[in-house]
Amino acid sequence: MTRFVIQSIAQLPVPADTVEAKIEHPVFPRVGLSVLWIGHGTCLIQIGDKVFITDPIFNSTAGMISKRRIEPGITAASIDRLDYILISHIHFDHLSYGSLSLLPKTAIMLLPPGGIEYTPEFGFSDYREMNTWETFTAEDVRITAVPAKHFNGRYGFDMAWLDYNTYIGYIIEYQGKTVFFAGDTGYDPEIFKNIGSKYAIDAAFIPIAPVEPHDFMMRVHADPKEALQIFEDCQAGIMIPIHHRTFVQGMDSSLTFAGDQLKRLVFERHIENRVIILGIGEQQVLIP
Ligand SMILES: [Zn+2]
Ligand SMILES: [Zn+2]
Repeated sequence: MTRFVIQSIAQLPVPADTVEAKIEHPVFPRVGLSVLWIGHGTCLIQIGDKVFITDPIFNSTAGMISKRRIEPGITAASIDRLDYILISHIHFDHLSYGSLSLLPKTAIMLLPPGGIEYTPEFGFSDYREMNTWETFTAEDVRITAVPAKHFNGRYGFDMAWLDYNTYIGYIIEYQGKTVFFAGDTGYDPEIFKNIGSKYAIDAAFIPIAPVEPHDFMMRVHADPKEALQIFEDCQAGIMIPIHHRTFVQGMDSSLTFAGDQLKRLVFERHIENRVIILGIGEQQVLIP
């Protein structure tokens, strides 16, 4: 832990890399399925006329300790229309107060169990806590909370009194498209097979970092190999890696450590057409 803190602080004076030519209008009037990686767990997903953002963080630090090393792929102001904010858990790098205050108030915010108590009033149109396997339905949009394997609390000490899981993933279903946002999770041999048996997933956002120290991380974070196993277990059509490159995390030797490892594995397995490694700020229309 001490080494991690020292390593994080050592990064502080380094300016964040910039994202050239940011997309100014990331929201389409309507689209089949589009994805844009803003960085870390923050993804802008559009299906038809509905716009979703996951775990929005635009801040320059996560929890004051981990510095952002590359700026957000788009500005929060460019998201001029937003229907849903999906929060997977309450860690600082996923539930970011300063970032939420920048988003359009029209959105409905979905949170994991216990999340509302940790959330100041931002003026969003609604707030819903989602238990695992609970489905929120509105105007043909179906969003279901699914299990993950992670750890509780926000501040460390609150882990002691939380006697239920405060972390989830999400399945979004709308207009015949199904997207899986895994949030922040370790590998589990049952969870993702179970999710895959219930849904025909078009695209899955799966975290691939931090990797080191491996014995500790493997209980709460998937490394690239485990992320690919999650992808296989849930039988999604496309995988998009997340939760890497953005913040200094764990004791990974470089920001590109996990991404490079994933690229190697994808190349070896000849699945380049199924794993889309987006750049930060890159948008792809998966279904026009
Ligand atoms: Zn976390
Ligand atoms: Zn995280």
